[in-house]
Amino acid sequence: MQLYKTNTLRVHNSLTGKKEVFKPINEGHIGMYVCGPTVYSNVHLGNCRTFMSFDMIFRYFKHLGYKVRYVRNITDAGHLENDADEGEDKIAKKAKLEQIEPMEVVQRYTVDFHETLQKFNFLPPSIEPTATGHIIEQIEIIKEIIAKGFAYEVNGSVYFDVPKFNENHEYGKLSGRKLEDMISNTRELTAQDEKKSPQDFALWKKAEEQHIMRWPSPWGDGFPGWHLECTAMSTKYLGETFDIHGGGMDLKFPHHECEIAQAEAGLGKSPVNYWMHANMLTLNGKKMSKSTGNNIYPSEMFSGENDIMSKPYSPAVVRFFMMQAHYTSILDLSDDALQASEKGYHKLMDAMESVESLKTGKTSDFDYKAWQQKCYDAMNDDFNTPILIAHLFDAVKRINLIKEEKENITEEDKSLLQNTLNNFVHDILGIENQKAAKDDSSALNGVVELLIDLRNEARANKDFATSDKIRDQLTALGIQLKDGKEGTTFSIN
Ligand SMILES: [Zn+2]
Repeated sequence: MQLYKTNTLRVHNSLTGKKEVFKPINEGHIGMYVCGPTVYSNVHLGNCRTFMSFDMIFRYFKHLGYKVRYVRNITDAGHLENDADEGEDKIAKKAKLEQIEPMEVVQRYTVDFHETLQKFNFLPPSIEPTATGHIIEQIEIIKEIIAKGFAYEVNGSVYFDVPKFNENHEYGKLSGRKLEDMISNTRELTAQDEKKSPQDFALWKKAEEQHIMRWPSPWGDGFPGWHLECTAMSTKYLGETFDIHGGGMDLKFPHHECEIAQAEAGLGKSPVNYWMHANMLTLNGKKMSKSTGNNIYPSEMFSGENDIMSKPYSPAVVRFFMMQAHYTSILDLSDDALQASEKGYHKLMDAMESVESLKTGKTSDFDYKAWQQKCYDAMNDDFNTPILIAHLFDAVKRINLIKEEKENITEEDKSLLQNTLNNFVHDILGIENQKAAKDDSSALNGVVELLIDLRNEARANKDFATSDKIRDQLTALGIQLKDGKEGTTFSIN
């Protein structure tokens, strides 16, 4: 029997603000859409956290036996600076700066995105559509919205008429905003504004002469508004109403609010049954920001080449760290927190490695069946991974007591324990035992340690030519050295 039949899952629905019993539209099947990255720069650690939350959710659905169609898009056009309706396209701007084609920018950062996610042990989504691959679908939706009277054309651009829509729909229901308040809080329209109301948003923008990313349309050459692509791609692959739409908390308004308006206006249906939002990652108590330098990229975490962390951290440790917080809570990243996670990660991996060799007896001193149920209960309660991890550490405690011969376990319970740990740690949380992989290369580790010793000797003798040569050649081989307070550590890419 499929596990979903015996597990009642509750999810926090951002639309109602409540935890609701999850019931998919078609029994046994789930359609899930998550807003993907705009590929104009290397993926942020904060974005990784959002996608990791949905990777864990995807994994749990699959574990429960659901057939999941998981669509996560790539935004490769239409996303303007400051998430606004005016300004340069983020990708075109980068292309101009680097004097390359916009599609080279897209390719470069899509590859980076995939490589980074792979290091974090993500499962690939079922479909990864691009905005530029769905221009026709977007134009069709605009035509529908115009035909229903909820959009208007001005000088080759098309805008969504928010006040008109709000007459018999509820604009702002997802983010809890009222249109009247929005209107009273915004500036007056200026003469050059094409919009009828400042709340209106672009469905299609006319491309000025210098705009390189452009497509023909019934309204002239232009490009789609950012919010439209997600409506086009989600409904194309998942149907006009689908189960789950996810994304980062920052996308709730205006992006997701506009998606609801577009679908309700164009297709006449509420597009999503459960809206889910993942919370943000802060760094040392502050918002991550490139401009203030309070920022760290995944590759800098793994290599240790940064001024923020005392040492490199493996992707598995970072993943374990992220899973220790509930996806709807803000999580603060710091060196201390990562060090604590690293200790916990090793403790968990050591315990899991030793289960196989546990001696079994006639009785068990612990109710393993009840413990397994607690693990499911935690996940069924809106994917409560911190509570799940607390239960996993109850098992670690048991394992260590059995090793010390202070407790007993039956053969049957031992296999239940082993399976349950594998399911929750590897399959659902997606945490790999990178320690085991490393142990296989203990000879290589020994060689690197030897070279570190030689480099330290060279440095002590002020022979910097030799010490630099060792570091640089190791770097060329993908082995990064990091000098810290407690000596030199290394990471192998
Ligand atoms: Zn989106």
